[in-house]
Amino acid sequence: MKYLVLSDLHANAEALDAVLEQVADERFDATLLLGDLVGYGAAPSRVLAELDRLPAPVWSVRGNHDKAVAGLTDGADFNVVARTAVDWTARRLGADQLARIRELPAGPVTVEEDLVICHGSPADEDVYLLTTSEAGGAFAATDARVVFFGHTHLASLFALEDGRVFGGLLRGPEGELELLDGVRYLFNPGSVGQPRDGDPQAAYMTYDSARGRLRWFRVAYPIERAQERIRAAGLPGVLADRLASGM
Ligand code: ZN
Repeated sequence: MKYLVLSDLHANAEALDAVLEQVADERFDATLLLGDLVGYGAAPSRVLAELDRLPAPVWSVRGNHDKAVAGLTDGADFNVVARTAVDWTARRLGADQLARIRELPAGPVTVEEDLVICHGSPADEDVYLLTTSEAGGAFAATDARVVFFGHTHLASLFALEDGRVFGGLLRGPEGELELLDGVRYLFNPGSVGQPRDGDPQAAYMTYDSARGRLRWFRVAYPIERAQERIRAAGLPGVLADRLASGM
């Protein structure tokens, strides 16, 4: 099965459009969607509508912003900027759109044998996997050989081989990895709509489970258009500013 892997779209329609344009000529068997469809960005309706353009079937999990927008959590642990965007998003969306977000499943979700998706970690959908020690806990929480996660907005990978965990950030405009027998993996495609690793370009991955091949990509998009949309909506200016720095 060949998958398109997207995470943390965050209501950035321009970024999602650029990713879909770049993969338009490729054939996929399914899409893996790792949560946070909305929040921060100012195009939640458009992003939700564009999900219908993703290669089907689409396997999804919910993110913490999805939960807050849908009213499943009160967002009390969100900072003021994130909270403001959550409230704005919830007011913008119709009942059908909110229901669609509310129905996103909690991770982890098993996609196929040895392939699991989650937002934060297979141990807890809301935790951040940033260090090798945190990755070790995530490996212990599942038997799956390959796990895709999001939430940190950092394109990254961790590998578990002979009881030791290695890993780090994935740099550059693109790259690929042939999976090795006897090694387990945690992959984060990075964020489509709000990258935080200093590269403002939209991030995504593709994964061929039969061939054991992972590829990662960055794609430029018209950031200023997404910024204008955020400012016109009256959302906090920092949400527009940070798109340009990728931080
Ligand atoms: Zn997020």
